[in-house]
Amino acid sequence: MNYLIGKFILIDMKSDNFGTWLEIDLSILDENYQILSRVIKKPVMPIVKANAYGHGLIKIAKRLEKSGANWIGVARIEEGLSLREAGIQSRILVLGYTSPKRIPHAIKEKITLSVYDFNVASQYAQMAESLSEKINLHAKIDTGMGRLGIRLNKAVEFIQFLNENPNIQLEGLFSHFARADEPSEDDTALQLERFEQLIEEIKSTTALPPMIHIANSAGALLFPRSRFDMVRVGIALYGLSPSKFVELPEGIEPSLSWKTRLISKKRLPAGHGVSYGFNYHTKKDEWIGVIAVGYGDGMRRINGNSTLLRGKYAPIIGNVCMDQCMIQLDGIPDAEIGDEVVLIGKQKNNEITATEIAGKWGTINYEVICGLASRMPHNYRN
Ligand SMILES: *Cc1c(COP(=O)(O)O)cnc(C)c1O
Repeated sequence: MNYLIGKFILIDMKSDNFGTWLEIDLSILDENYQILSRVIKKPVMPIVKANAYGHGLIKIAKRLEKSGANWIGVARIEEGLSLREAGIQSRILVLGYTSPKRIPHAIKEKITLSVYDFNVASQYAQMAESLSEKINLHAKIDTGMGRLGIRLNKAVEFIQFLNENPNIQLEGLFSHFARADEPSEDDTALQLERFEQLIEEIKSTTALPPMIHIANSAGALLFPRSRFDMVRVGIALYGLSPSKFVELPEGIEPSLSWKTRLISKKRLPAGHGVSYGFNYHTKKDEWIGVIAVGYGDGMRRINGNSTLLRGKYAPIIGNVCMDQCMIQLDGIPDAEIGDEVVLIGKQKNNEITATEIAGKWGTINYEVICGLASRMPHNYRN
């Protein structure tokens, strides 16, 4: 794979040309998809929002389409349009808000939208009518999350309204869990009960849309009753668990590694300041390395980050800079400029996971991988 930079310079996508890069194993992604499909026994809609959780939107969607995904979920219509431009044929559902002005694009590119508001739905229908077309919609219900979705007390009326509009093709009904990844099942069970009850009410009043879905990764794995006609799986597909309370099926592996290189190695005398602010001073004569990764790539500017070099842990010391940071090399006397340094992933017998990093950063693994800067090359394997 090559990168065209400017008009003339073609850079070979071999990782030894890069300071920092992401390695994505597409066969792991495919295997994760197959395992999840087998375990869940319902169609899996891969979620590829936020640049496929940092993995790269187009490549990931293409591979998952090949793996058998009939539906692909995105957060925004722009992501859906990029997928169509890249030749993706699968059904596409936009999970977030779409402006009525985008209806011509949605219709032309056969992109299905979410809807949760009477007014917006009317505007969608008007736009579709002016084109003598129908817009495909999934109605989103708020069963308790308090984010997008029409409130339950208006939901039946809303479905009826959508069903009766000649320019609307209502093909889905869905909701979203707020706490499916937590040890207490109460709130999830309540959301599920409300959703099931709504389905019964809709059936007795008007037509029930054909595609019913509510489960994210945690819901799909922990609550088989929540699987309905399809599950919307993001994090588990990329080989990470939604939380420490959710065990992933056997065989699921992280599909992404984050790597950089050692670009300097020198001995500094005791008491020498390291990096902006001299947040670190050498305690003795110390071997200090520089690696080509910084907060401009998504490395958080906090203490406690670590790396793997020659299979051993090398801590990041001093403040993280925009494009570089320093590591302590005392335990690794054989380290050489050019060595591969692992930030996320395996090296020899050791591993650093996005979930471990999330623990240090006080966040969740989702934020760690979504925060990987798009300036980094994505190096795809298999
Ligand atoms: C992001 C998202 C998902 C996927 O969630 P995971 O926890 O990554 O599986 C599913 N549904 C909706 C509406 C989402 O926004």
